[in-house]
Amino acid sequence: MTLDEADMDALSHIVGIEHVVRGAGLARLERGIDPENFGSSLVVRPGTVAEVQAIVRWCAERAVSIVPLGGRTGLSGGGASHEGQVSVLMDRLDRVLRVSPFGDYAVVESGATLGAVEAALAPHGLSAGINLSARDSCTIGGLVANNAGGMESFRNGTMRQRVLGLEAVLPDGSLFEDLTVVLKTNAGYDLKHLFIGSEGTLGLITKVALKLTPVRQSFATFLLSFGDTRSAQALVSAARRATHFEVLRCEAMWRRHFVETCELLELDALGRFGEAGEVFLILELGAPGTNSGDADASGAIFALCEGLQSFVDGLELKSEREVREVWRVREDWAIDRRYPNGLWFDVSICPDEIDAYLARVAEDLARLDPALRLYAIGHLADANLHVTVNADVDLAALKPRIEACVYRGIRETGGCFSAEHGIGTAKKHALAEQVSPAKLDMMRKIKRALDPQNIMNPGKVVD
Ligand SMILES: Cc1cc2nc3c(=O)[nH]c(=O)nc-3n(C[C@H](O)[C@H](O)[C@H](O)COP(=O)(O)OP(=O)(O)OC[C@H]3O[C@@H](n4cnc5c(N)ncnc54)[C@H](O)[C@@H]3O)c2cc1C
Repeated sequence: MTLDEADMDALSHIVGIEHVVRGAGLARLERGIDPENFGSSLVVRPGTVAEVQAIVRWCAERAVSIVPLGGRTGLSGGGASHEGQVSVLMDRLDRVLRVSPFGDYAVVESGATLGAVEAALAPHGLSAGINLSARDSCTIGGLVANNAGGMESFRNGTMRQRVLGLEAVLPDGSLFEDLTVVLKTNAGYDLKHLFIGSEGTLGLITKVALKLTPVRQSFATFLLSFGDTRSAQALVSAARRATHFEVLRCEAMWRRHFVETCELLELDALGRFGEAGEVFLILELGAPGTNSGDADASGAIFALCEGLQSFVDGLELKSEREVREVWRVREDWAIDRRYPNGLWFDVSICPDEIDAYLARVAEDLARLDPALRLYAIGHLADANLHVTVNADVDLAALKPRIEACVYRGIRETGGCFSAEHGIGTAKKHALAEQVSPAKLDMMRKIKRALDPQNIMNPGKVVD
């Protein structure tokens, strides 16, 4: 179905002509990660919940499909659209409506970016408890829709644990109102969880009540290197049991990622450090409660390291520059720029199996084609690995077999083929293979029950 000028007039009537963005206007909007994010060539930007409802009703009456958009940082194609669809960009619904320093909750509109929400919470010494490098672009609605995780999930949970309540516009335009601000709400089925991780397929999230957590100030950052993952995990586990400091972040990089990123970014000093181990750990410590930091944290960490057989090398990063550079090695996408056709995976591995898993995948890939190169980084305490398979050749033909290598055995050992980046279009086929037929069937029934016309982000997650 194509939309004509009368349709544009109708949508303009709902949101105002300046908020129906097409043609040259689209070039002024940041398209984001996925080149298909504005594939619809039509972006509508509602400014109120009533306008969201009116857009959805208008679309439902005509069976026009809707693609929700937040900060366009999603990595699985969930925001991709095509001609004839209406992309609904939530960025004008960006207010922080309420912060309760006493009740440790905030109510925000879904188009607010994580960075803006954190800025509003900072004066209260509070945080939404979620942290990822896309923080200044991704929105609360997008984070909820993707059940995002990030670097603090091991202590604060994923988005599912951060949401106390939410409000969403359903595919018929009605409003699902469950904006509770308390943890304990046993009022029948807890349906808000349907929207968390639904990737825009069940409704447009408009407001979210977030559970807040006290801000922790970082007082020491270490770069540590180990001969195997198990030792890095043992260090993190022991450090988390310490009472005089708290582990704030523990991000791992495996050797090939670390060494090559240092080379590509020309970070010589770190590159030399990288001659050492197989696994590199950024360990960031903060003080629990109102402590200002522990002068002997460094001694404690190195004492723990020395007790581990495969500890190789480590340093406490003393200057801001060193800290910045180490985080650059973790967060910069230098490897992806070097191999633009690489294949990305985001997997959760049984924590006891990471070394064995990576060794097995490397062997399988080498058997498939010796030119394939395996890279890995990850949120170590969550056993969440971001794995990429790169080569100087086009990998399209090998993709199914590479996927089979990467996913093999994960489910059987209690992990998950999709950890935190969602399904979108990129992993829809894998979902159908990796989850039980009964689960897939239930998902389809829920989708059909809530969206019988299949107008809400069709073609994503499940058909
Ligand atoms: C540099 C970078 C680092 C990242 N790091 C992490 C990480 O550490 N952990 C992690 O979990 N993820 C990470 N991500 C991906 C993560 O999924 C997104 O950052 C975030 O969750 C998406 O939010 P967004 O507002 O950009 O959503 P978008 O990209 O705009 O949309 C993503 C999906 O959510 C849907 N959606 C958006 N808004 C709404 C709404 N209001 N109602 C209903 N559906 C909606 C869309 O239809 C789409 O399916 C990273 C991404 C980047 C680019």
